[in-house]
Amino acid sequence: MISPTNNDNSVRPLDCVVIGGGPAGLTAAFELAKANRRSLVLEAGDDVGGISRTCQHEGYRFDLGGHRFFTKVPYVQQLWIEILGDEFLSRPRLSRIHYKSKMFDYPLKPMNAIFGLGIFESIRIGASYTKAMVFPNRNETNFEEWVTNRFGKRLYEIFFKTYTEKVWGMSCTELSAEWAGQRIKDLDLRAAVINALIGGRSNKAGGQITSLIERFQYPRYGPGQLWNCCADKLRESGNDVRLNSEVTSIHHDGERVQSVTTAGNTKQHFSADQFLTSMPIRELVAILDPPPPTEVLEAAANLRYRDFLIVALVVDRPELFPDNWIYIHSPDVHVGRVQNFKNWSPDMVPDQSKTALGLEYFVQEGDELWSTTDEDLIEMARKECDMLNLAPSEAVEDGSVIRVKKAYPVYDDNYKEALGIIRTWLENLQNLQLIGRNGQHRYNNQDHSMMTGVLAARNILGENNDVWSVNVELDYHEESQDSKQTDLECGPSVDNNRGRGLPSS
Ligand SMILES: Cc1cc2nc3c(=O)[nH]c(=O)nc-3n(C[C@H](O)[C@H](O)[C@H](O)COP(=O)(O)OP(=O)(O)OC[C@H]3O[C@@H](n4cnc5c(N)ncnc54)[C@H](O)[C@@H]3O)c2cc1C
Repeated sequence: MISPTNNDNSVRPLDCVVIGGGPAGLTAAFELAKANRRSLVLEAGDDVGGISRTCQHEGYRFDLGGHRFFTKVPYVQQLWIEILGDEFLSRPRLSRIHYKSKMFDYPLKPMNAIFGLGIFESIRIGASYTKAMVFPNRNETNFEEWVTNRFGKRLYEIFFKTYTEKVWGMSCTELSAEWAGQRIKDLDLRAAVINALIGGRSNKAGGQITSLIERFQYPRYGPGQLWNCCADKLRESGNDVRLNSEVTSIHHDGERVQSVTTAGNTKQHFSADQFLTSMPIRELVAILDPPPPTEVLEAAANLRYRDFLIVALVVDRPELFPDNWIYIHSPDVHVGRVQNFKNWSPDMVPDQSKTALGLEYFVQEGDELWSTTDEDLIEMARKECDMLNLAPSEAVEDGSVIRVKKAYPVYDDNYKEALGIIRTWLENLQNLQLIGRNGQHRYNNQDHSMMTGVLAARNILGENNDVWSVNVELDYHEESQDSKQTDLECGPSVDNNRGRGLPSS
């Protein structure tokens, strides 16, 4: 528990400057505050929470993509409760896939898929699966080959290809097989079908597979409530969280970071003993002063990201569909996923006679959709809802658009090598630690991002943790204990209870 004991900052030197007021940065500062170390969190935006913030439009709240709270790390769970207490709701989960005007369970279940697709399509799936088993591609290098080898070409085309390409904006042949392996883990179609047919529930190790995660936690007013509450607690305990404070230079002597500079009318410099950064690595490297060697600059410039925008619609209907979110696999519309925020928490909607939807579009900064006016995006979202039969266009009353840069770090063929070069050089700066999602260019959820912040903070307090082990080793160690959960956000995801369901993308 952090205590608001010493608010006299003049007598407390600054221990740490934290770049970024998202989950990673705020958690790090919170952990330091618990040990009575003083931090300054510098946040470029006008609100805390980063990609996990909650936006508002006329009292309607919406996340930048629905943010489910689930963790297998007990300390993260403890922190959530410590920060937000009983404002956490336990919510039922329903999410389905919309494909060819039909709804399929998500995570996919074999019998549901077979009945939904029809007998002819199911035979095609079976035949293409058999073919993949008999004649696998021996040299699988890309996502398409990896998935086809395990599920057959037809299932890949139906439930992976379109959605994955919508999300990543590139062909599945350009995405690495390694990435597929990380996201889809070792799911086995044959085991899944057998399980579905005979109701088996055992995993490969012979243990019992836990049931689907059918409930999840969610703050009453969205994840932004948690992060605002965290920032308030930090300020109450004598720390500083500054908004609209973009770090534009990081000054160092080759061995230590000495200070950072923020943009604004009057540039401000902040010095501290320790520095943590959750800003995107590509930008971090570009603002180092003096600049690192050309090789490092080039490696950073090669890191790629996927951007995102969400169109929030207010619909004059008390109810539309029971799902929290729906994956849209149809290539006929641009939308990738539709959130129903009222089903996340009724308090997200101020007027219970209305519903608030969030249509998620996966884009590239500057591309056609990104550059479309808000007005036209709202009109497009309204039409797409109608086409998909999710909400009648005449019932859409209002809308709002939020664009999110660098929502996803891209795992392409180059990123690993580039990251290696950057990390090796940054290790020279002994008092700088990289935390969080874009801060480590890693596909972290909130809990992983938070854990990097916790470990980095504890390093400052004298421990010797490998901050880069989060979302690698933690997952690995806990894999056998419980169902894994990698489907928190979009992207190719599976029913993570091994051998129990089919994948979706
Ligand atoms: C569509 C979508 C759905 C998701 N769903 C889930 C989910 O269901 N559950 C879940 O747990 N996670 C989910 N996530 C992941 C979650 O959003 C992230 O893991 C988390 O927000 C990462 O926290 P972070 O602090 O590392 O980074 P961020 O949230 O990106 O925060 C970094 C902060 O740094 C600030 N910053 C950047 N540059 C500077 C600078 N130069 N100076 C100062 N500040 C700077 C940014 O403004 C930002 O506020 C989802 C993500 C997306 C995109």
